[in-house]
Amino acid sequence: MELLDCVASILEYGPICDHCLGRMFGKRSHSLGNDERGRALRITGAIARDVPFAPETEICWICSGLFEELDSWADRVAAALEGIEFDTLLIGCRVPPLITESEEMVWTDLSLTHPEPLKAEFNREVGKRVSARTGHEVDFKQPDVVAIADLARGGVEVQISPLFIYGRYWKYERGIPQTRWHCRVCRGKGCERCGFTGKMYADSVEELIARPLIAAFSAEDAVLHGAGREDIDARMLGTGRPFVIEVVAPTTRHHDLSALQEAVNRSAGGRVAVMLDHISDRREVETIKSEKAHKKYSILVEIEGAFSKEEVQTALKTLEGVTIHQRTPARVSHRRSDRVRKRHVKEIECVGVQDGKFLIEVLGEAGLYIKELISGDGGRTTPSLTEILGAAARVTSLDVVMVEAVVPETRPPQQMNTE
Ligand SMILES: [Zn+2]
Ligand SMILES: [Zn+2]
Repeated sequence: MELLDCVASILEYGPICDHCLGRMFGKRSHSLGNDERGRALRITGAIARDVPFAPETEICWICSGLFEELDSWADRVAAALEGIEFDTLLIGCRVPPLITESEEMVWTDLSLTHPEPLKAEFNREVGKRVSARTGHEVDFKQPDVVAIADLARGGVEVQISPLFIYGRYWKYERGIPQTRWHCRVCRGKGCERCGFTGKMYADSVEELIARPLIAAFSAEDAVLHGAGREDIDARMLGTGRPFVIEVVAPTTRHHDLSALQEAVNRSAGGRVAVMLDHISDRREVETIKSEKAHKKYSILVEIEGAFSKEEVQTALKTLEGVTIHQRTPARVSHRRSDRVRKRHVKEIECVGVQDGKFLIEVLGEAGLYIKELISGDGGRTTPSLTEILGAAARVTSLDVVMVEAVVPETRPPQQMNTE
């Protein structure tokens, strides 16, 4: 169908505003606004048919006059964003199904090839106005905030994008889980067993880091994503462990990382410490969660019977470089699938004896279970120190002393001083 025949057919559906008329050909002649395009088509149509030109005065059957209210929508969006700190924004909207059905009916009836949906024009036009009013830019990829206009109800819902910070943490006290651990009885609701806290432990590394950050960012919550995790009874020393903390719905965004670091370290009181390295993103969360980093441990091992340091050292050396078969340890089998993993011990060495226990350092491939490497886990891990010595060996304390970085860091990892 010729362009002007198309226009004539569209006008037969009922009164239509310039915006909605122009949008039917919205992806043609880009540099025009839809209202300009619509008005031009209306004028050209009148000239072609040699009838008097009359602008549309009745309520548009598609949008019911929505585009007269763009300024008012921009006001509502700006009001909804008040008190929230952001640099970039994106406007979205919920379009009543009737509007979508109406415009799609015309596209199909007339086989239009270049229409633009109402949603796209509305978002763009309100975005321009809010941007001009607040001085913040529209960003389609990673906006700090998304304001969603509900066209049927008239409200604006604001979604604040999370903020991510990459850092390393040290855990100096045993008995602190890495993340919040819901009470097994009530699953977080609060019961007598957990003293109505909903938690198995009062604190976690996550909460010790999160609390000051939630306060600083006036955020809803903060969630820790660690590059692996140490057992609850293990300390995290040496290089510290990389993590990304996700600050959920922050209402402020601009803070000096070293001041935040100080606030966390002061409030954690030496039980946990952090070094905050850089502002991160969701991609880095995926990277550090893939957990391919090698880890080094320092462990104390108790062995039944009398063994010299040299005998232990000789036994350990036979573990170096060989493939260790580890069936999922009994202690984690309730939450991990039962299978046999093949891992390597890169380096293992007995570095001393303390109170009759052997101080051993192990550099292991990602995913190697250290306690089971020593104990044999009732034959589920093989070979093991227990198997080689023919005597029960058991880890009595474990510290993680090195976790490789899988994300480039801007500052070299440093030992935190908590004195
Ligand atoms: Zn309209
Ligand atoms: Zn409980």
